[in-house]
Amino acid sequence: MMTSEPDSLPRNGWTTTSADMPAAVGGTPLIRLSRASDATGCDIFGKAEFMNPGGSVKDRAALAIIEDAEKRGVLKPGGTIVEGTAGNTGIGITLVANARGYKSVIVMPETQSQEKIDFLRMIGADLRLVPAKPYRDQGNYVHVSRRLSEENGWLWANQFDNVANREGHRLTTGPEIWEQMGGKVDAFTCACGTGGTLAGIGFGLNDAAEAAGVARPKIVLADPEGSGLYGWVKSGDLSVSGSSITEGIGQSRVTANLEGAIIDDAERIADPEALEQIYSLLIHEGLSVGGSSGINVAAAIRVARTLGPGHRIATILCDGGARYQSKLFNPEFLRSKDLPVPAWLDR
Ligand code: PMP
Repeated sequence: MMTSEPDSLPRNGWTTTSADMPAAVGGTPLIRLSRASDATGCDIFGKAEFMNPGGSVKDRAALAIIEDAEKRGVLKPGGTIVEGTAGNTGIGITLVANARGYKSVIVMPETQSQEKIDFLRMIGADLRLVPAKPYRDQGNYVHVSRRLSEENGWLWANQFDNVANREGHRLTTGPEIWEQMGGKVDAFTCACGTGGTLAGIGFGLNDAAEAAGVARPKIVLADPEGSGLYGWVKSGDLSVSGSSITEGIGQSRVTANLEGAIIDDAERIADPEALEQIYSLLIHEGLSVGGSSGINVAAAIRVARTLGPGHRIATILCDGGARYQSKLFNPEFLRSKDLPVPAWLDR
């Protein structure tokens, strides 16, 4: 089997060589966020998923889904993978496909950042932009990608309902965080698109805590405005209100990846609170991250305040800020959304 060799090698970053690009996915640093930590008296750590080869947490899902399809024999050499994505999964799939000799067809709502669109084209994806439509509409990017798969006999990655996605996080990201924190993790916060990251890491941390015979960390879902998941966790109500400029997160249904996930609580974070964290991480800590990372860190700070000083909290730095230069770091765009413009951008 073509995956057996890279699979058998450890994926633990700079202390080893990697057999190829897919083997270099994961093994990301866990960085203490000093301002968030100092403000709360806790230790808050960000898993630097923007350091993956494709620049986001979704490299892990792309690789896990492709390796699962290879193992099940449903992805043949030279085959084509089609997926509906906010961009990052498409980037991960395309790069892993390039490395393994597959073709990729990426369906994406046209509202996503120009940087992600340009990058997907640059790396050779067959990109199909579609108008942004709600999931109940058959023109929604997820349904378009499913139909393309059915019509052409291509593999549909189906990241929302393919639990190979969360399984990848259960087997890699969760154990990495546990090990990096020396088995002392009080809480974990994370926003959801598919839910694969939150659910998989939650399971992985739970597995590790069980094996160590200690209490598992508290798992808290971080949700932007315009998503139904906060209401779902709090009261079983999936209805949606408000909106967010963040990309790749927010959900109005319980995906297969979210079914049965360990979730203890939720925090809803509005864009200004997330932006405050994004700008602070950049200007005070040298960490350039995108919108969902801001939501995650803001939620980690809230959880730290609830738990009180002395606790250890992990969260995810999902992708890098350069992917959103034309939005999160563009004064005209921010003003058009009535959002504050940070001083150093406003010159
Ligand atoms: N942040 C960003 C930037 C993303 O692109 C995504 C995935 N769409 C997520 C967070 C959410 O990850 P997941 O799909 O695992 O819930």
